[in-house]
Amino acid sequence: MSRHVLVLNCGSSSIKYQLVDVADGSAASGGLIERIGEQGGHLHHDGPDGELDRDEAIADHEAGLAAVLAAFVETGASLTDYGVGAVGHRVVHGGDRFAEPVLITDEVVDTIEAVSDLAPLHNPANLAGIRVARAALPDIAHVAVFDTAFHQTLPPHAFTYAVPEVWRTEHGVRRYGFHGTSVKYVSRKAAEVLGRDAGDCNLVVLHLGNGASATAVAGGCSVDTSMGLTPLEGLVMGTRSGDIDPAVVAHLIRVAGLSAEDVDDQLNRHSGLSALAGANDMRDVHRRADSGDQAALLALEVYCYRVRKYIGAYHAVLGRLDALVFTAGVGENDPDVRARSVAGLEPMGIQVDPARNHSPNGDARTISPDGAAVAVLVVPTNEELEIAQQALIAAAQP
Ligand code: ADP
Repeated sequence: MSRHVLVLNCGSSSIKYQLVDVADGSAASGGLIERIGEQGGHLHHDGPDGELDRDEAIADHEAGLAAVLAAFVETGASLTDYGVGAVGHRVVHGGDRFAEPVLITDEVVDTIEAVSDLAPLHNPANLAGIRVARAALPDIAHVAVFDTAFHQTLPPHAFTYAVPEVWRTEHGVRRYGFHGTSVKYVSRKAAEVLGRDAGDCNLVVLHLGNGASATAVAGGCSVDTSMGLTPLEGLVMGTRSGDIDPAVVAHLIRVAGLSAEDVDDQLNRHSGLSALAGANDMRDVHRRADSGDQAALLALEVYCYRVRKYIGAYHAVLGRLDALVFTAGVGENDPDVRARSVAGLEPMGIQVDPARNHSPNGDARTISPDGAAVAVLVVPTNEELEIAQQALIAAAQP
């Protein structure tokens, strides 16, 4: 079996891809196609023998994938030369139908389509990628890896919303959770840092990237998570509000004349740090706060306060907490957010050591003081490697 896996992450107008060498976790090649079907199509590809960066009109996902395959050839080696063992497709929503990565068949495609109402922006794009990749690479195993799958272990009391039965039974309204691929990878790495078996560790994983979520992991299984039916619930994010009173939606439809779609769009794309600070990137929020911008400072405080609330809630969910784990763009790189998020939690045994917290070391590491009751860790995530590993495992199954 080859050790290379092509990981594909298809959005509505983009294709992100990486050729992952599972043996050492490195990316042999990778790139991004943007603005598919729009003006200003663009291809960026990093290969072992060179880099491509050019404007290129890309009509649809089929043309996009053809451009990806051509980019491999142009920069030294075709996918066939690598002997790719599997294609791993990132799929956002598996509903309650997929608790594991799955070898893609026509039936699996139909099932992903059947749950697409739950992720109308993401799943159709993921499916477009699956269709064109299966057609272009028919002799390779294709595997779907779901953002929701790791959270299928949530107990009913954690995934059930207290809403009318028909919403739950007919319309799939419940907590699903996302970022599962990242949380699974990071949980395993955290157990390695702690020198313990994953089955023995109780963790709170804080995936703080553009999207952000908190997950309570008990003995390697997700038992609660902050994102819900969609990724909107929970922590404050770059452009998403996270938790708000659900009555806000009807209130705005009534008093501001907005449509349900307007409110949904505003909550997902124009809220969060972007609404509070005028910038969705945490580095910009810091720059503004450092120069005395009070709105940016408030955004930072709201963001970290929400993280702190979830740490407390999930500590209670788990009873015993072994480690708090920061990951993703903000979690891995932002000592100020980490320090603010745990400020005042010393009585719960949670604190960071300032020197360790500010160390620029990019490896998985401990940033709490020696002997702390709860370890605080920074663990770089690697969703592509996790998808690649899972895809090879699923492809090898009879
Ligand atoms: P995604 O959720 O898209 O995978 P990432 O996990 O890469 O995103 O996180 C991206 C975000 O991480 C950026 O929008 C930015 O806010 C934040 N980020 C990246 N580097 C830093 C840094 N050095 N300090 C603070 N925040 C950072």
